[in-house]
Parts: sequence; structure tokens; C-alpha cells
Amino acid sequence: MADETLRWIETEMARLQEAGLLTTIRTIESPMDARVIIDGRELLNFCANNYLGLANHPRLRRAAKDAIDRYGIGPGAVRTIAGTMSLHVALEERLAAFKRAEACITFQSGFMANLATIPALVGRGDVIFSDELNHASIIDACRLSRAEVVRYAHCDVDDLRRKVEQVPASGRRLIVTDGVFSMDGDIAPLPAICEIAEAHGAILMVDDAHGEGVLGEGGRGIVDHFGLHGRVQVEVGTLSKAFGVVGGLVAGSRLVVEWLRQRGRPFLFSSAMTVPDVAACLEAVQVLEESTELVDRLWENARFFKAEMQRLGFDIGHSQTPIVPVMLGEAPLAQHFSRRLFEEGLFATAISYPTVPMGKARIRVMNSAAHSRADLEEALAIFARVGRELGVIGG
Ligand code: PMP
Repeated sequence: MADETLRWIETEMARLQEAGLLTTIRTIESPMDARVIIDGRELLNFCANNYLGLANHPRLRRAAKDAIDRYGIGPGAVRTIAGTMSLHVALEERLAAFKRAEACITFQSGFMANLATIPALVGRGDVIFSDELNHASIIDACRLSRAEVVRYAHCDVDDLRRKVEQVPASGRRLIVTDGVFSMDGDIAPLPAICEIAEAHGAILMVDDAHGEGVLGEGGRGIVDHFGLHGRVQVEVGTLSKAFGVVGGLVAGSRLVVEWLRQRGRPFLFSSAMTVPDVAACLEAVQVLEESTELVDRLWENARFFKAEMQRLGFDIGHSQTPIVPVMLGEAPLAQHFSRRLFEEGLFATAISYPTVPMGKARIRVMNSAAHSRADLEEALAIFARVGRELGVIGG
């Protein structure tokens, strides 16, 4: 029982439960891979952002273990106080080269990278133009900055242009967008956004969390995908998804990166990534630079899975990437669907409000290079069975 001061939390939780919006968190008893063990049962895993199967890759495991033997575990303190380990410097240099950027800085997560970057670039008296569907970490970073925030309609360059033209040009301007939108899998029209930024002297920032390791040559990300090198001032990325580890990064000019070392608050006031994280990320870059095999397999799997889901009659939105939103509408149906998939041996979470708008609940399926063709076929058979049973598809 909560004491009186916290009774309101019980009320709120009951409300969430009633609306089918209470999230249950499954406990995974195995490595994060194409199949996972939950409650002692093996299930197909279709909800991790483990795009390339690197989360349990033997080379990354080895690299992390070797680095622990050489460098221990923790970074000691924040880098500006305790010094920076050579491993972190090496990772930033390798990432900059991989991303074909001048420089790179790493953070503890992608969320932290956004929290560090936006308030370092704009403040009171400045204006941020932000896509209405941008990730929560961008929304929070915008609030932290104290700049005025102007939201533009999702991926709507005409709305963005109109709004940029309307706002008086005093102070700095920042245009910020997700590269790949994580709930729908669509890609921001970055070349057109870049032209608007250049025409109006705005800083352009893209959060490429779901494009890192997925888009561009060998997974170099959205800037590479569109050939916009040198024209996007800030490219945020994450090491927590395709890279299979945890961490965040900003790639850009030396000037921007050095500024973030001086003024990025999560860099200045929070400890760096751990040794095994950094070593595993270094190995991930190496794996990606050696071959495009994993990226190619991811796309091949995604193309096959999406085509088959459409053939079965599912509404899978307009994804342009390996993210597959299986649109179901109301949250209780999505929860029920996810529960039935689970019983049939497939782990794919229902996503509902506030992560997506009300009435747009879905199962978000994440494809991965770790899945074999047999995994995909088994998953499709389960989706077909549950879809028919719940009247989501015909037949
Ligand atoms: N930005 C976007 C667009 C994301 O989807 C996510 C992850 N959900 C993040 C940032 C945060 O990344 P991380 O998990 O590394 O904190």
C-alpha cells in the first residue's frame, strides 16, 4: 500500500490498466538474439532493435572480454575530470571515419546524445523547428534548451518552409528531425529539409538512431544514404540498436564536436561508456567495415517479411525500412494480439499511447539479420494464424 502522498500513483496505474495501456516488461533469460528464452520457453524474437544481430555476435563478445582483461570495466568518472581512456578516443576516431565525418563524440546513450546536443546549440531567444513525430529524447532536449519550439507536420517540407519563413530571423535556428521514424519506419525527406536549412541559415540536426547500421553504404547512416556529407551539421546516432551494444554518438565537424566536449552537459557531468561497451562497439565498426553482408541480409529479410505480410492482408503502414508496424487500431486489440503471438511462440510487443497516437496501436515487428529464412517463415505462419483468429485478416 502506498502512503497518502503517493496514493495518486495507484489511481493512475489503475486507470492505465483499465485502458489497456499498462506495459508489462518480459524478463529475458538468454542472450538477445533471433530467439530468446522467456519463462523457460524459447520464442522467436521480433521486437529488439538488434538489426544486424550484433548484440550476441561472437566477435563483439570476444572483444569485450579481451578489453576487460586489459582495461578493466569502468571509466572512473566523467572524462573531463578523470581523463579519457584511449579506447574511447579510438572509438570516436573509428566512428568519424566510418561515418565519413570530420569528428565524432560518444555519449552513454542516444538519449543522452540528444540531451547534450540541443541545449548546447540553442537557448533562450532561439527557435527550434521540430517534426511533430520526433523521438521523446528530442522533445525533452528541446524543452531543456529553453528555446522556442515550433512543431511542423510530420515530414511535411512545405509546412516546415512556411514556418521557417514566418518566424522572425533573430537568434539561432535549429531544424531537427528523426532520420528514420521509429514507430512507422518512414525516412525523413532530408535533402529537401537540408535545402530549407541552407536557404534560411538554420543549423540542421538529424537523429539517425534507426538508420545507423541500416541505411547508407554498409550501414553508414542517413547522411550517407542521401549523399549529404558536410551539409548536415549534426548527425546523432545510437550504438544501442544496430551496433548491438549501448551508447550514443554525434558526428559532425571538429568545431561542433569540440563544442559538445565543452558544453554538452551529459558529457561534462556523467561518466562515459564502460570499457566492454566501447570495445564491443569498436569491433562492431570493424565488422561493418569488412563486409556489407549483415546489412544486405537485414534488407533481404525485411523485403521478404514485408511482402509476405502484405500478401496475408495485414496493414503494415508505409515503412521504408526494416521496421514493420502491424496496424491494429485500439490498444486492447494490440495487447491481445501480442499476447496470442506470445502464446504461439513469437515475442513482439504491442505499442500504444503515448508512444504512438491514440487509436494507432500496433505490433511493431523488427527485422534482423539474425533471423534465418526458417525463422521468418515460422513468424509469418504465427501472424497468419493469430490474424485470422482475431479477425484482423480474412481467410
Ligand atoms: N533517438 C531515437 C529516434 C530513438 O528511436 C531512440 C531509441 N528508442 C533514441 C534516440 C535513444 O537511443 P538510446 O536507446 O541509445 O538511448
